[in-house]
Amino acid sequence: MFCDIVSGSVPGFVVADEPAGFAFLDIRPVFKGHTLVVPRGHSVVLADLPADQLAPYFGLVQRVSVAVEEGLGAGGTFVAMNNKVSQSVAHLHVHVVPRTKGDGLRGFFWPRTKYASDEEAREYAEKISAALS
Ligand SMILES: [Zn+2]
Repeated sequence: MFCDIVSGSVPGFVVADEPAGFAFLDIRPVFKGHTLVVPRGHSVVLADLPADQLAPYFGLVQRVSVAVEEGLGAGGTFVAMNNKVSQSVAHLHVHVVPRTKGDGLRGFFWPRTKYASDEEAREYAEKISAALS
């Protein structure tokens, strides 16, 4: 499914499209701006990711985490990856969730919200994308 977003056959709100990976909005965000960063090739879990892609992929994760914070004026981020258990899509992905002090996120219970419209989602994707250095 994420391969289809990377290839463009399924539309997504794209934050970054680079050789190292692809980043797009989670359509059921924990908080608005919640971004998923995936490797371009199909790896299911972290153990499958070829060693030569580790540094470029996590380099993109690092830059997206900075962009989510700066682009949205967030207080910080929560960066996480599920492998197998609680992994909803069988294509490796890192969650980058904007955090604000007092936002109510506790432990690993993730309340999900939704975007009011495609326009609002696009706005969030553009803010993060513009802050990507
Ligand atoms: Zn895939």
